[in-house]
Amino acid sequence: MKLNFPCTTCFLNGRKNIESAIDITDDGVYEVKCENGHYSIQLIRNEKYEILFDLGMLALNNGFAREAVSSLASSLERFYEYATRVILNGFDIGAEEVEKTWKLVSNQSERQLGAFYFMYLSMFKEVPTSFPNKKTSFRNNVIHKGYIPTEKEVFEYADEIYNYIVKFTLNLKERLSESMEELFQERLNIIEEKFGRDVSTPSYGTILDKSRPITVLAESSLAKEYEYVKAEYLMYSK
Ligand SMILES: [Zn+2]
Repeated sequence: MKLNFPCTTCFLNGRKNIESAIDITDDGVYEVKCENGHYSIQLIRNEKYEILFDLGMLALNNGFAREAVSSLASSLERFYEYATRVILNGFDIGAEEVEKTWKLVSNQSERQLGAFYFMYLSMFKEVPTSFPNKKTSFRNNVIHKGYIPTEKEVFEYADEIYNYIVKFTLNLKERLSESMEELFQERLNIIEEKFGRDVSTPSYGTILDKSRPITVLAESSLAKEYEYVKAEYLMYSK
């Protein structure tokens, strides 16, 4: 699966929109070379959990219901990580300390979930809703026991994850939008230092796109978003 990147230099020079399709990367960093020879480094603003969720829904739409579950489940896990990091930034914990502590839990998703629950409680002073056990069993059946699910079952699983992530995203945006931006800026600084040049930062309209206004996010639904996937309105090419 590839992501389409428009060339900003061509665009600024008034040329028609030249797009380069690049394989999706793990770290969100893309080296873009357009057909007119312009070169740029781009760091997408979308978090990994957003991309994983899209990959899951694209797989589902392409008939790979079983494979979709793996990406969707990973999306939820990476969201726990993202939310934990946003909250830690909200408590002014330095990036280096966060990184060192994260290493202690990085290989065990149950530890990460525990960290998320308690960070959430500390920041919001309320008990976090847990993801339904029934849906976690469904995931385990598919991933560990070879269960072959129907499209409807996977959509229901995705819908549960979608609503769960959107609910927490709304809380993060209301309370910690500055931390969300600071986390991104930290990543951007590291990438700019690494490449020794300016890095552009496009944002893509993923299904879970957290850059949308709170009112828009609050009224969204996966059923509506899935229509866009079916109409191939997302920004991917094969
Ligand atoms: Zn160009």
